[in-house]
Amino acid sequence: MVDLKGQYLPIKEKINSSIATILETSAFINGPEVKAFQKELENYLGVKHVIPCANGTDALQIAMMGLGLQPGDEVITADFTFAATVEVIALLQLTPVLVDVDPDTFNIDVAAIERAITPRTKAIVPVHLFGQCADMNAILDLAKKHELYMIEDNAQAIGADYTFKNGKKQKAGTMGHVGTTSFFPSKNLGCYGDGGAIFTNDDDLAHTLRGIVNHGMYERYHHDVVGVNSRLDSIQAAVLRVKLPKLDGYCDARREAARNYSKAFEGQKSIMSPKMANHCNGSTDPYDCHVFHQYTLKITNGKRDVLVQHLSEKKIPCGVYYPIPLHLQKAYKDKRYKEEDFQVTNQLIKEVISLPMHTELDDEQIDYITTTVIDFVND
Ligand SMILES: *Cc1c(COP(=O)(O)O)cnc(C)c1O
Repeated sequence: MVDLKGQYLPIKEKINSSIATILETSAFINGPEVKAFQKELENYLGVKHVIPCANGTDALQIAMMGLGLQPGDEVITADFTFAATVEVIALLQLTPVLVDVDPDTFNIDVAAIERAITPRTKAIVPVHLFGQCADMNAILDLAKKHELYMIEDNAQAIGADYTFKNGKKQKAGTMGHVGTTSFFPSKNLGCYGDGGAIFTNDDDLAHTLRGIVNHGMYERYHHDVVGVNSRLDSIQAAVLRVKLPKLDGYCDARREAARNYSKAFEGQKSIMSPKMANHCNGSTDPYDCHVFHQYTLKITNGKRDVLVQHLSEKKIPCGVYYPIPLHLQKAYKDKRYKEEDFQVTNQLIKEVISLPMHTELDDEQIDYITTTVIDFVND
C-alpha cells in the first residue's frame, strides 16, 4: 500500500546525516531540531502556532483539553473514519455524537451535523478523510451560528488547500479554532516513528496547549493544569525537516497517480472513482484540492469482498477503510443511535476499497493494478 523504502532512498544521505548529528549532540528531547521544525511547519501552513506532540491521537486529545471541554459536552464527528477521533472524545468523558457522511466525498454530512446539534453541543470535529477537506464553508458557518468549537482532524490531509466561496485559500488544519495532524510513517508527511502536531492561530490557546503537552507546566515544577507527557522527539523532527520541503512534491506525485487511476477507470459502470468536492470545481484542475492519502473506489455491483480476495491472490495490496462504522463498534455503541441515521456509512462499508497510493507508484504498476481490477469486476 505504501513504499516507505522507495521514498527514503533518494533522501537517504540527508536523513542519515541529520540523525547522526542528533546522536552526536545527544539532544534527544526538546532539541533545536524540534523548534526549527515547528517554525518551518508554521511557515508552510501559514498558521501562527504549531505545537508538536507525540502522535495524532494525543494531538486530538490535547486540543480538546485545551479548549476546556467538560464531561457531558457533546462533540459531533463522523461515523465513517478511523477510531482515534471518537476514542479521545470518549476518554475525556465527553459525549461523542456520530453522524453520517456524504456518499461521494466520504466526508462528514453537513445536514447531519445540523440535525445533531443540541444545547449541549460544544464542538464539531470534521475529519478531512483520505486527503480531501470536508465542506468547511458550511461547517464554519454552522459553528459560528451555534457558537461551537471547530477542531479539524487533519491526520490525512496535510498539505491540502481549501478554497472558500470568496476565493480565499487556506491550508487544511488551519481553518478551525484548532487543527491536529499525525506524522505516523504512512501518513502524507510521515516520520520514522510516531509524531503529531496541533495547529492554532489563537495565542492564548497556543499557550494553554504548550503547557498541557508538558505536564501542565508553564513554569518549571509549577503544575497549573492537569497535563500529559506528549513530545515529538528530536530524531523525528530531524526526519520531518528533511521531508517537509518535499511535501508539495509528494502531494503532486499522489495526485498524478490518482489521475492515472481515475483515467483508467473512466466509463466503468461498477467502479466509481473518488469524487472531488464542489469546492474544487472553481479550480482548473479538480485534483488540486485533494492530497490522496488514500485512493478509494466504490465497487457498486456487490463484488467488493471477492475483489479484495482476488487482489491478494494477485499480490496487489489493497485495504478496506473502514470496514465497520464507528457507531457499531463495541466500544462506541449507544442506544441513542438509530440505524436509519447511518444509511450512507452502512452502504460505504460494503463498497469501498483503497488501492496502493504513495509517492513512488509508476505507470506500469498502475496499469497492472487497474487492468486487474477492471477485468475482475466486469467478469
Ligand atoms: C492516523 C489518524 C489518527 C491518529 O494518528 P496517530 O499518529 O496514529 O495517533 C487520527 N485521525 C485520523 C483520521 C487518522 O487517520
